[in-house]
Amino acid sequence: MHRPMFWISAVLPVLVALTMLAGQSRQTAPRPRVHNVILIGWDGAQREHVRECLKRGELPNLAKLASEGRLVAIDILRTTDTKAGWTQILTGYEPEKTGVFSNGRYQPIPKGYTLFERLEQHFGADNIATVAVIGKKGNVDADPPAKVLAAPIEQRARAGRAQAQQRLRQGTIITENGVRYLVEPGKPFYNARQGMDVFINGLIRDDAVGTKALEMLERYRDKRFFFFIHFAEVDHQGHQYGENSKEYNDALISGDRWLGRIVQKLKELGLYDNTLIYVTADHGFDEGMKTHADAPYVFLATNDKGIVRRGTRADIAPTILERFGIDLKRIQPPLDGHPLTKPYNPPIW
Ligand SMILES: [Zn+2]
Repeated sequence: MHRPMFWISAVLPVLVALTMLAGQSRQTAPRPRVHNVILIGWDGAQREHVRECLKRGELPNLAKLASEGRLVAIDILRTTDTKAGWTQILTGYEPEKTGVFSNGRYQPIPKGYTLFERLEQHFGADNIATVAVIGKKGNVDADPPAKVLAAPIEQRARAGRAQAQQRLRQGTIITENGVRYLVEPGKPFYNARQGMDVFINGLIRDDAVGTKALEMLERYRDKRFFFFIHFAEVDHQGHQYGENSKEYNDALISGDRWLGRIVQKLKELGLYDNTLIYVTADHGFDEGMKTHADAPYVFLATNDKGIVRRGTRADIAPTILERFGIDLKRIQPPLDGHPLTKPYNPPIW
């Protein structure tokens, strides 16, 4: 009487385990389309200047990357500055949904909207490393909301200091026990940072950013990862010396050299073949100027062969999410951008 029961209870689990193993190996045999993504930012890299550098052979690593995939134009439809730019690139949303319109008009991006958070949620926090290594101190930042004494800032604003004036416009004045305070909103990546593995900003120099990025690749080599590596020198040199300066040009070359070292590192770690790299910019530069008030022309260079068209800043996040296998239709609120891996013909009216 007991023998069949014994047979089932002893052998069935073994059979089930064997079946699961076989199923698993069958599932993992064809490699997932993408395992890792690295998004590299060249803050303030103007498309036309990048094109000239490529023609002169000054960006060999960007040229190599693009030769393995694509180089396409990115046209910016909204404010051509840093906060607006990286927010749009890292969320896929227009500013109406993120509240980040420009360097002077922003709030923390609502919780869950960034690539970092969506990937952590999709894969589970233990199954993916999300890392941001950032050259800028301001504008790609994650500081919490703060309450500061209003008087010194108001004094600076009256003296004509633009930054102080901007802070007053952006914040709210409150009075507590007769003392006036300025309450400033949290910075755009304040919410996103909570769930991320690494968020380091303010490294300023390309060498500091690049060195830290290589260190992080070593640290997370055994995990699936998404990296945002942000180089600030192009923008900084542009503001200081102008878009047509040697310094601006040299900064692009510096970005290219670091792209080469990142690729080299991935190859050493045996990760290059399952890592997609995207290089892009948040805004261009006003031709020959030290400003980027109206600088909507940038680019996307990638080893992703699947890119089929040019696009906008908001198209980059959906492209990356789709590459990670995330069903874009299920994302709430609906993304404003569209993946660059598919034709997109918006109605003309
Ligand atoms: Zn700038």
